[in-house]
Amino acid sequence: MKKTKPMIASERSYIIEKEKFVPVSEYYGEDTFSNKIMKEKLPKDTYKKLMDSINEDKALDIETANIIAHAMKEWAIEKGATHFAHWFQPMTGITAEKHDAFAEPSGIGEVVEKFSGKQLVQGEPDASSFPSGGIRATFEARGYTAWDMSSPAFIKRNGISTTLCIPTAFISYTGEALDKKTPLLRSNRAVSKSAVNMLKLLGGKNIKKVNATLGPEQEYFLIDMDYFFKRPDLVLGGRAVVGAPPAKGQELEDQYFGSIKERISSYMHDMEEELFKLGVPAKTRHNEVAPSQFELAPMFEEANLAVDHNQLVMDTMKSVAKKHNLACLLHEKPFAKINGSGKHVNWSLSDNHGNNLLNPGNTPQDNIQFLVFLIATVRAVYKHADILRASVASYGNDHRLGANEAPPAIISVFLGEQLTQILTNIEKGTVTKATNAEIIDLGISSLPAVSKDNTDRNRTSPFAFTGNKFEFRAVGSSQSISFPAAVLNTIVAESLDYLAEKIKASTVKNINQAVLEVLKKEIKEIKPILFNGDNYTKEWELEAQKRKLPNDKTTPVALKALITDKALNLFEKYEVLSKVELKSRYVIYLEKYIKDLEIEVKCLKNICMSQVIPAAVTYQKKLAEAIIGTKEVLGNAAVVSSQAEILKRVLDAVNNIYSVNKEILAKVEAAAAIHDEAKKADLLCSKVKTKMDELREYVDTLECLVDDEIWPLPKFWEMLFIS
Ligand code: ADP
Ligand code: MG
Repeated sequence: MKKTKPMIASERSYIIEKEKFVPVSEYYGEDTFSNKIMKEKLPKDTYKKLMDSINEDKALDIETANIIAHAMKEWAIEKGATHFAHWFQPMTGITAEKHDAFAEPSGIGEVVEKFSGKQLVQGEPDASSFPSGGIRATFEARGYTAWDMSSPAFIKRNGISTTLCIPTAFISYTGEALDKKTPLLRSNRAVSKSAVNMLKLLGGKNIKKVNATLGPEQEYFLIDMDYFFKRPDLVLGGRAVVGAPPAKGQELEDQYFGSIKERISSYMHDMEEELFKLGVPAKTRHNEVAPSQFELAPMFEEANLAVDHNQLVMDTMKSVAKKHNLACLLHEKPFAKINGSGKHVNWSLSDNHGNNLLNPGNTPQDNIQFLVFLIATVRAVYKHADILRASVASYGNDHRLGANEAPPAIISVFLGEQLTQILTNIEKGTVTKATNAEIIDLGISSLPAVSKDNTDRNRTSPFAFTGNKFEFRAVGSSQSISFPAAVLNTIVAESLDYLAEKIKASTVKNINQAVLEVLKKEIKEIKPILFNGDNYTKEWELEAQKRKLPNDKTTPVALKALITDKALNLFEKYEVLSKVELKSRYVIYLEKYIKDLEIEVKCLKNICMSQVIPAAVTYQKKLAEAIIGTKEVLGNAAVVSSQAEILKRVLDAVNNIYSVNKEILAKVEAAAAIHDEAKKADLLCSKVKTKMDELREYVDTLECLVDDEIWPLPKFWEMLFIS
């Protein structure tokens, strides 16, 4: 493509800005109605009532809500807010908000700013335009949003517009969850209950609540905005549907953790400043493996907050990028044959005293507890690998999972050598009395040393234990982490209950010994899920098959795990999702898959017909004229065979592009006639997707033949290497 336009650096001058340098600690969380602010602004008894409601998970009376709403409004107006909005997470996977002005008419030509407890606690957005998977027919489109007191309200600034955002759950009038927050909150409750019971059984005292903790590492790409707008595929679908890989990719390994370019550093600085103001603990930033790929890892937080914050991270990444004339790409695989983006979701459980339950302790007793939670998690993954896989299934993630750089579609657990050895020791049954000495003999005393520095990091594992937490690496970079987290919480709750029942049923008096005997049996059963080797190899795929581990490579297949009796009963039993709710999710995810694929088909068609083929024809004409012209001047003896060969190759590519495109369109049309969404998705996946890949090869061949000056699309090397 013609490169005439110089890169526009950031519109803002950081050097000047930084003259009024303010330490982060002075503005961290300033745009949130934080605990500190609430303590300051609310009457003592109101503050206490609110905290009790949050901690004990109970509703707030309307008088208290009125007082809080008033304080919140005053605070927001001081921050410049003119509007308030219930901020929620519909099944689109992104966030939604409807703004209402604080100003209300108070007389003729007069207004007064108002915000009541009722408006704080409940909202009524029109639910008909959000996906519900058939839960709610459009004629009964009413839904409501309910304040989630556990996530602080915040100020959202967009240009000069300033809005008070109140995190809410989104529910139908008949009580079904229409969003991603509700099941997460319910799953937190479920895992807390099961974990508290287990801790009590193991002799724990004063344990009231257990929280799931999440630390989502967010990967992303940045490209120049000017290039972005010249790629309809990136604008509309987030992924380059055509484009040849650059001559240099990531093979030199010079990008990962490399020094960050100035333009990018400035962007990161700006983006993190926004996040800090919102109380998002943006901790670590670095270059990722692919050129122009980066990562932001926040400090972990309580799950619900971490999910909300990850949504804010994704929003902020995109909006700040615009100010730097950059486009932030969150797609799982924006550039074929280049490293894709995921979201490593670090997960653990923590009791109300802040003790991490997956942290090996210093005493044998602590370590028994650690082993119980560790094995409960491994068992959960073993029993429900299919559901976990389904929780990360999407059209975008299909391009990444199993692509030899991301974890495979086979879910397995990495524990590292040392821990695996300990489990083997337990399984072999060296325990008879479970005395401290015996426990030490098992190798358990060395558990504290199983710190993350010692677990050899296995980057290929989809679910790895990394010292004091599990890291679920199959999550897609653009997806909400809410459902994967809700699934983890739910399946672990079930396994904790299962183990608790076994322990209680044991006739062995000594609790430690009873536990070890139960674990011994369990380890034997769940062993097939453990794998410390290289997950990318063909051998593992075959081995996994022998072990009967699911290997669902595509979304339409993977999603079916959500509607098995096993899944439906599990989610219902733990009151996370009713059968109707879970089935509706299956439908929504399936529809999303179909829509994403169809959008790409249209993009591909338009690019081929209105950009690629015309460029090829222009070049074709140029070559043909050159051949004729050369012969005219030099006579028929002139050797023009190379030009003729290029011409032929261009022509072949154009013909192939045209005919494969036609085939694709015919198949899409055939799919459109199918009413069963599952069948339709299967057909699109097996027949259309494969053809799209074939079509792309022809286009990419052409890209390398046609005159660069007339190629209509920015190329990968331009987008990825120019900053
Ligand atoms: P890595 O080497 O993978 O970068 P880090 O220790 O830096 O490992 O942690 C990566 C992520 O894991 C961070 O986002 C961090 O907050 C998160 N994390 C650490 N401890 C926990 C925990 N107990 N629960 C959930 N996430 C955690
Ligand atoms: Mg990590």
